[in-house]
Amino acid sequence: MDRSWSEMNREMQTLLAKQATFAAGIEKLLALRESLMEQITQIVQNFPEEAFAQMPFAGAEGYHSKTLAYSIWHIFRIEDIVAHEMIAEDRQVLFAQGFQGAVGAPLITTGNELSGEAIAAFSRQLNIPALYRYAQAVKESTDQMLRQLSPADLKRRFDGGMADKLRRTGCVSEAESAAWLIGYWCGKDVLGLIRMPFSRHWIMHVEAMQRIKNRLCKLARKGVNPVAYCGLSCNHCFLGAWCGSCRTVYNTCSFATVSPDGQCPNAACCQAKGIDGCWGCDRLESCEKGFYTPSNDGAAAARAQALYIRAHGEKAFLQLQSRLHAKYDFEKVQEILGQDWREALRRLEES
Ligand code: SF4
Ligand code: SF4
Repeated sequence: MDRSWSEMNREMQTLLAKQATFAAGIEKLLALRESLMEQITQIVQNFPEEAFAQMPFAGAEGYHSKTLAYSIWHIFRIEDIVAHEMIAEDRQVLFAQGFQGAVGAPLITTGNELSGEAIAAFSRQLNIPALYRYAQAVKESTDQMLRQLSPADLKRRFDGGMADKLRRTGCVSEAESAAWLIGYWCGKDVLGLIRMPFSRHWIMHVEAMQRIKNRLCKLARKGVNPVAYCGLSCNHCFLGAWCGSCRTVYNTCSFATVSPDGQCPNAACCQAKGIDGCWGCDRLESCEKGFYTPSNDGAAAARAQALYIRAHGEKAFLQLQSRLHAKYDFEKVQEILGQDWREALRRLEES
């Protein structure tokens, strides 16, 4: 489990256990949920629509064998059902805010009954922006409910009547792979539900989503020129697990994610000019676009590398990158090349 999420989860549980620290425990829980939601937001905002129905770990054991779309649906359907049918005893967000049609889901269940290709087929039917809006609405509504809880509420338990009510909603499939959920939820008190559907369950699925998207990026980069348009090496990039290269639709590099059109300005400019990289441009020395923005601390290093490629070619540049990584311990290339592109180029030439 991610160390910071696991630590927050542990602290939250300790704080909730005592009346004196209950409020701090709720705040910690809300912070954990916010941090996990941020990951989901990053994925939804930066990954192409096709990514959400891919199953790069199909057939594997574990949550990473699902799709990104299924993971979001599953996390928030479970939370919606538990928060509204069991704790608040009001209407689920899916129905109260009319999300079912917008999301395009052919079912209202948690999705536990689906497996293999059925998960991929289900995922292809979902409207991802609407699914994300549903996820946000469920989170907001649960956060509000959590803020209103008192220490005494945590001990509240559920009887057989609740199990019957949950069955009647039709929100949990009768299939063996799903029906157990009702007994599992009803066997817990409110604190037990906080510990799973509202926190740990998120962590497990968001971590699985990270594995899925990292794998998709790796697959996207396969066979693609590993030299980025700006002069960085995707093969040696510290963002390699997150970004699928500025030459693919998985272009989640830092400048792409902050650009309104979702494309790195250097990549867009090179494509418009019909060149393979900024090293083919006569404005390279003075350009201030994208990675070469003066305030970017990696500008000098990227510019120097593009100039090195212009002089020696992409193959020699990639070999140089491998030598530098073998010789020095660094994450970002500017750590060893500095902030002056002439000096950075001199260092590259010397290496
Ligand atoms: S951030 Fe740039 S160098 Fe790194 S993997 Fe993405 S495109 Fe390649
Ligand atoms: S103008 Fe700048 S971003 Fe565009 S190709 Fe030339 S160096 Fe690259």
